[in-house]
Amino acid sequence: MKLYKVKKSNIDRQGRGLYAVKDIKEGSIIINYVGKIITKKQTEVSDKFDNAKPIYLFNLNNRYDMDGDVSWNTARLINHSCSNNCDYDGQGLKLWVVAIKDIKKGEELTCDYGFGYDSDYKQFPCKCKSKNCCGYIVRSESRWRINKRFSLRHKKNNRVNR
Ligand SMILES: [Zn+2]
Repeated sequence: MKLYKVKKSNIDRQGRGLYAVKDIKEGSIIINYVGKIITKKQTEVSDKFDNAKPIYLFNLNNRYDMDGDVSWNTARLINHSCSNNCDYDGQGLKLWVVAIKDIKKGEELTCDYGFGYDSDYKQFPCKCKSKNCCGYIVRSESRWRINKRFSLRHKKNNRVNR
């Protein structure tokens, strides 16, 4: 049985999102992230990834990327949240979405898009409305650059990672 359904999103009002259709345990794989496997060279020469942040582009290894911007990739509909309950994971050339906390039936499934901080971060406002929201779609490790409120957490995270 599928763990999700697609419906109108509360985060992206113009778009759709994925919602839990039952309680999901932390660690469960929810959906595969599929797409076209392309070489780094193809990524470099394609203008598709030039102007926008590569929301759907994943680094698989030194040689290949995954372009998830295809109609059959339902996982591309997952929205970004600053308190995401899912994360992308993978092995080899396969990617999937895994629950990183227990998720209740009816909750919207969200990931951290992992955008770095750069000069055009303001192009991508975040509407997740979570308590943790820094206002823009920027990966958690970089949010302190936007809002000092996140700086303590940033330092703490660093320490844990070391
Ligand atoms: Zn947010």
